[in-house]
Amino acid sequence: PVLEGPIEITIDHLSFTYPNSTKQVLKQLDLTIPAGHKMAILGRSGSGKSTLASLLRGDLVPEQGQVCLNGIPTPLFGDAIANYVGVIQQSPYLFNTTILNNLRLGDPTASEEKVWEVLQQVGLKGLVESLPDGLATMVDEAGLRFSGGERHRMALARLLLKETPIILFDEPTVGLDPITEQALIDTFLTTLKDKTMIWITHHLQGIEKMDQVIFIEEGILEISGSPEEL
Ligand code: ATP
Ligand code: MG
Repeated sequence: PVLEGPIEITIDHLSFTYPNSTKQVLKQLDLTIPAGHKMAILGRSGSGKSTLASLLRGDLVPEQGQVCLNGIPTPLFGDAIANYVGVIQQSPYLFNTTILNNLRLGDPTASEEKVWEVLQQVGLKGLVESLPDGLATMVDEAGLRFSGGERHRMALARLLLKETPIILFDEPTVGLDPITEQALIDTFLTTLKDKTMIWITHHLQGIEKMDQVIFIEEGILEISGSPEEL
């Protein structure tokens, strides 16, 4: 299937148990995420957030129920789901090649002009301009020449080139100081204006600007509402 235009995510009676375990991690979850929504998913460690993320991007197949993009169950997309759902992990991976090549993983045909444009959007233009080799600067395997926050911005720049309409963040700000974290969240919120943003976190920092917050406990959706309501 190929999707055009805005994408609505519907999660319908979703349950999941890992094959090697008897513990049901997600229990009958129901949730709709409208196109362009900014949603925070809150929950303690082990509550099932990353499992939900894996189900959202089709890496796991539901035990019961389903996750759909515009009504189509995620497993039907196969690898093409990566064109719709982009993920930014806790430690985004950068490759041992130039900054330009790292970013062009999102879109091999992107012009340098376009690459500078997304670097501007994510607040990295100044940094890359200041490097003697600019876009040709080599990034070592671990991306160690960049700070944690910079690596996340780099990962976002890559996804902006890929133009996935949905971007899922799985605790990307763990280990960052509160000021850097807030700056990163603000960048994400303004940059992803029309895109759907799913923000997985175990703390409250940054969620006040989201459209909706849900709280998962022991695989059950406990509370859902706007940040003011909670
Ligand atoms: P955290 O905030 O620590 O990242 P989380 O909410 O993301 O936690 P999950 O990673 O979704 O939690 O894990 C939910 C439950 O599923 C935990 O009890 C965990 O031990 C279990 N689990 C996670 N991955 C697997 C796996 N591959 N096989 C078996 N059990 C797993
Ligand atoms: Mg997790």
